[in-house]
Amino acid sequence: MELDNAFEEIVKIVGEQNVSNDPEMRYLYHYDFITAEPEGQCDIVVMPESAEEIQQIVKVANKLKIPVIPWVSGINFGSTATPLKGGIVVDLRRLNRILEVNKDDMYALIEGGITWADLQGHLGKYHPDLRAGITWSPPGTGVVASCLCYGMFDLGNLGGTGAEFINGLEVVLGSGELIRVGSCSLSDCWYGRQPLPDLAGLFIGWEGSTGIVTKAAIKLWPKLPFRKDYTAIGRSFSLGYPILSKLSKAGLGICDIVFQNYGWLQSTMEANEKKVPRDAFESNLPDFFSFITTQAYTEKQHDAQCEAIEEIIREGGLKLPKGGANIGSEMPIHLWGCWNFSRGGGGQWIGSYCSSRDVVKYYELSRKVTLKYGHTPQFYGRILFGGHYVVARTNVNFNKDDLKEIQSAREILKEIHDEVQSIDGVVMYKAPQWAHEVYEKKMLPATVELTKKVKKLLDPNGIMNPGHGWGD
Ligand SMILES: Cc1cc2nc3c(=O)[nH]c(=O)nc-3n(C[C@H](O)[C@H](O)[C@H](O)COP(=O)(O)OP(=O)(O)OC[C@H]3O[C@@H](n4cnc5c(N)ncnc54)[C@H](O)[C@@H]3O)c2cc1C
Repeated sequence: MELDNAFEEIVKIVGEQNVSNDPEMRYLYHYDFITAEPEGQCDIVVMPESAEEIQQIVKVANKLKIPVIPWVSGINFGSTATPLKGGIVVDLRRLNRILEVNKDDMYALIEGGITWADLQGHLGKYHPDLRAGITWSPPGTGVVASCLCYGMFDLGNLGGTGAEFINGLEVVLGSGELIRVGSCSLSDCWYGRQPLPDLAGLFIGWEGSTGIVTKAAIKLWPKLPFRKDYTAIGRSFSLGYPILSKLSKAGLGICDIVFQNYGWLQSTMEANEKKVPRDAFESNLPDFFSFITTQAYTEKQHDAQCEAIEEIIREGGLKLPKGGANIGSEMPIHLWGCWNFSRGGGGQWIGSYCSSRDVVKYYELSRKVTLKYGHTPQFYGRILFGGHYVVARTNVNFNKDDLKEIQSAREILKEIHDEVQSIDGVVMYKAPQWAHEVYEKKMLPATVELTKKVKKLLDPNGIMNPGHGWGD
């Protein structure tokens, strides 16, 4: 009954062509079609085109106590846009305007549903001297969504996670009010979050459970004329990682440092994991692959940077394939077919932030668990913010038609999570509720209480993306 009322009211807000409760439409929004996480239920899907329409929708949802789930493409890998408790999925892709590109302060003011393809296409056409950080996610995934979820880009060594790329936000709160945080709260300049109280954190890392971001200013960076992508290969993580750590702290124009094990490399090359050696290390294959990107303003500067990078790599015992650099295509890559159909299309990960000191141990623990379950270990990480911290991800592929494989993927990932908790400071991002429970036990009780109070303040009726985020 409430759902019928909500549907009728939403039709009045957005017009009947922009809302649906047809079963085939609802199906598209009820799950994350890549992961092994439980499915949800989408009752209504709506595509608003402005902050004002979103405000009205959220007010209807508050009145009728129906959940609201912000959504761009729903394949964030953590299943955090899955409507676990039913409700209204708000597909933001009609909020797809790039409102400004500010060349002086280097940011793009974009709407909440802008995709990576939208942003890249716009910059390539109108501002070829500027670039955004790019993820490996498919081009149709969301830019703002990614920044809010601590995503990582190919400029990570320069600028940190996506959250650090956010200058300011306009948000419809769970209560339906519209607010702005950052310099944009006082002016039309969206240059940063400084020097006001930093309220952007009320929406970062909350998985859309405190409000819907309708506008965001995202940092851009200069596209320098000289660039080189290195691939450096080693036998093991314990040999290779310290060299990358040294590089990350050496300056040298390095904007991105990625490292993968053999299994992940095979996966990105679309190999079927069942057809490649399961344990590269035991098979005497190299198990450490790194990709380092450097950029410079002049040729002389570039040559000097490259010389220093190659020296550090060689001294450390990593191999630079033929000629020292540029094997394979230029990074970044978009992983169009990574979890492809020949393997059954399923993939999921445990992704965590951790200290640079512990990432080798993280890999070893995750590798041990994955092998125990008869899977190929797949690991990928990035060094962030000039070596201040690291993101580490371990993936499992599975066949989505095979319930046993899905169950096994869940068990492996849960066990990896539990194992790596023995390392101090490992924190999963886009974490499911069971991980939140683990973390809440580690936090000071007053921290947990504060989180709950913040959630209640911003979303008084608990309608925002229930089952995800913090403070439920
Ligand atoms: C093959 C593959 C590779 C990937 N590689 C990367 C990678 O390298 N780096 C990386 O960072 N990510 C990666 N991802 C994860 C993810 O797709 C990206 O982070 C992406 O940009 C998020 O967009 P989405 O459309 O998937 O978000 P959605 O799944 O639609 O949303 C993600 C979360 O944000 C919330 N949300 C969405 N929009 C808003 C909004 N405007 N306001 C408030 N909350 C909102 C949702 O409720 C949900 O909780 C990858 C995904 C895939 C499938």
